[in-house]
Amino acid sequence: MNDQIPRLMLNLIGPGTLAVFGAGFLWAWSIEKRRHYLLMLAAACLLFSAGIATQVLSLPPDAGLNALLSNFFYTAAVIMAAGGLLRRAGQRPSPWLGLAILALFMGLIFYFFYVERSLAARIYVQNFGFGAILLGTALRLRSLARGPLMDRVLFWTLLVFSLQFFPRTLLTAPLVRQADPARFGSSPFWLALQFSLSVVGAALALTVLLAALSDLIEDLRRERDMDRLTGVLNRRGFEERSAALLRRAGREPSALILIDLDHFKRINDTYGHQQGDHVLRDIGTLLRHSARRGDLVCRLGGEEFAMLMPGADLEGAQAAAERLRAVIAAHRFPLPALAEPITASFGLAQRRPGEPFAIWFDRADAALYAAKAQGRNRAVPAGL
Ligand code: GH3
Ligand code: MG
Ligand code: MG
Repeated sequence: MNDQIPRLMLNLIGPGTLAVFGAGFLWAWSIEKRRHYLLMLAAACLLFSAGIATQVLSLPPDAGLNALLSNFFYTAAVIMAAGGLLRRAGQRPSPWLGLAILALFMGLIFYFFYVERSLAARIYVQNFGFGAILLGTALRLRSLARGPLMDRVLFWTLLVFSLQFFPRTLLTAPLVRQADPARFGSSPFWLALQFSLSVVGAALALTVLLAALSDLIEDLRRERDMDRLTGVLNRRGFEERSAALLRRAGREPSALILIDLDHFKRINDTYGHQQGDHVLRDIGTLLRHSARRGDLVCRLGGEEFAMLMPGADLEGAQAAAERLRAVIAAHRFPLPALAEPITASFGLAQRRPGEPFAIWFDRADAALYAAKAQGRNRAVPAGL
């Protein structure tokens, strides 16, 4: 009896660790409740943990009920894990398929216990079945292998985890038949299962948790650097990203365009601040659609915007500003019968080699001031 206690403790390390991961996913979900996949992953950990605990603690003691209940927990856990991973990647797993797989596994375990009793068959059903579900999931997620580092690590860990079910089961399950069923807990199959589940399974759970946390951090960063109203960068995001871009551009020419809406006070006064906000939102969309890949678009504040064009010279910037000016002047804003079109003025400057950002910005700003002074609705370049 005393021998049993350390073994029981050892056997409970696996479910205990998984329960901690489950709590980790729940915590991540509490930060960002829109991410339902975190709840599914929490459920997967907790269900799997419950499955192991059911077996290890022999609860309920009736072997048939125990096999059915633990199978329910395991299968539901694997389906939840697969569904959670697919949802994280923006795919839509079918709940009906999940339920059908669960019903199939319950039916098979029932059959191989009550109709044709075979422990080996139950082992093959569960292990090959779970391996197949996870392998199918990994294949559906193969595009992660070309994604950011965290996604790549996640894909390969999932692939290894799904593949280990096959050789491990083939090598160790036949040994179960020779063993005394009462000593299943010390069979090579059970020990190999515990080992691979705790090592590779923990690596997978840890990778998924880290991937989920990096999703959350990425979300928060985006939120911090974005202007909510217009969907372009805010000043903070612009400053951070433009510094990095300019370092990369080195001595290549780059151009900066500053944009200020004309007589915007009048629009607010005539239609109200809320309508003014609608105009700003539209301007954000027009700017985003006009930008090339690699350009930075930002709302500096109020109704002032900036566009940084790495690799563009003054001529390129002039053409881009002219295009934008025409697009804004021709756009139909969602305002009741507007007397005159909404227009914007542009100041642009090409960066001089090694010029500090603040000086370059001031030159573009002076050009914008000149555009206003010359009558607005125009783009004025600063001299090189
Ligand atoms: P100008 O042609 O000389 O630029 O004239 P303007 O009226 O646009 O003058 P200015 O650029 O100095 O005024 C900016 C106005 O933009 C002041 C303020 O009422 C309005 N504004 C600033 N931020 C917001 C905002 O978030 N929403 C709305 N609706 N209006 C804003
Ligand atoms: Mg202004
Ligand atoms: Mg203005």
